[in-house]
Amino acid sequence: MTSESVQLSIVIPFYNEEQGVALLFERLMPVLETMDMKYEVIAVNDGSSDQTLSLLLDAAGRNKRIKIIDFVRNEGQTAALQAGFDYSCGEIIVPMDADLQNDPADIPRLVEKLHEGWGVVSGWRKNRKDAALRRNLPSRVANWVISKVSGVPLHDYGCTLKAYRRSILEDVRLYGEMHRFIPIYASWNGATVTEVPVTHYPRSFGKSKYGLDRTVKVLLDLLVTCFLGRYLRKPIYVFGGFGVILLLAAFCCVIIALILKFAGQASLVQTPLPLIAVTTFSIGVSSILMGLLAEVTSRTYFESRGKRPYKVKSSINMRGVKNGASDTRDSSP
Ligand code: UDP
Ligand code: MG
Repeated sequence: MTSESVQLSIVIPFYNEEQGVALLFERLMPVLETMDMKYEVIAVNDGSSDQTLSLLLDAAGRNKRIKIIDFVRNEGQTAALQAGFDYSCGEIIVPMDADLQNDPADIPRLVEKLHEGWGVVSGWRKNRKDAALRRNLPSRVANWVISKVSGVPLHDYGCTLKAYRRSILEDVRLYGEMHRFIPIYASWNGATVTEVPVTHYPRSFGKSKYGLDRTVKVLLDLLVTCFLGRYLRKPIYVFGGFGVILLLAAFCCVIIALILKFAGQASLVQTPLPLIAVTTFSIGVSSILMGLLAEVTSRTYFESRGKRPYKVKSSINMRGVKNGASDTRDSSP
């Protein structure tokens, strides 16, 4: 099987999942065999300290469609997924968890939906089987916030089981917990995004690597994603806008303090207004200066990568590209 002929890549990150490796392949491979597509399974061993790697090696020894990437150390689920995407060859890429909380039997439905023309099909764990208070509730809130802030309404950003066209993932660079935001970059880049309910099982072996702290990380990542998505080209609008508001506040404080003084109601030292004015003025000026620095960084980023601050869908009667213009509405966070 040549790598060019691969149509479907399944990407699975493993971190200390020794108890589930055999069962996972036992359930996954028969499903893939029924799909009538040339497939590969990319297992990323994310620095496991148990027997996960040797079990993966056994599986890969028996089946050449199973490929392994072995990390030097634990880098986290997002980095493992990014590596899997980077090494994958399929036109369609489907990430999933190694712990069998996702059901491999859902893969054909996701892929079928992709064949209907969608760019991203997101799994929705409608009946999620994780701890209600510690995981499900914060996740519901996070999904609501992410949907509102990004403008891409999905019920379940956190479900790893999703299906992507390769073109969607090509420019994506993932950091932190950002694999869950791929549908947002995809949608911002013009791709169509839909979701289908998928089965979810409780973790029957090993233990979850995450807790409540992940919700905080996800919300911070959302802030970064939205900032970069909206203002990477004009960071001065954010920093400068904030700075201008503070300068106006400083100006108002000075005016009010002077009015009070000359109306004989309070001397300058009797109100906190001068102090507030000096503080807001200094923060305002620093913020504008930071905005200018951010502009320099943004220019360096675009110029050094030969990027253009727009994304062209198609062009007609256009011969060649002047000045090396390519795209892009950048998809990397
Ligand atoms: N995982 C990983 N590296 C990590 C943590 C997790 O590769 O540092 C993998 C893990 O082996 C599993 C998937 O990411 O395949 C999801 O992890 P987990 O089941 O702990 O998350 P949860 O389902 O509880 O959100
Ligand atoms: Mg899990």
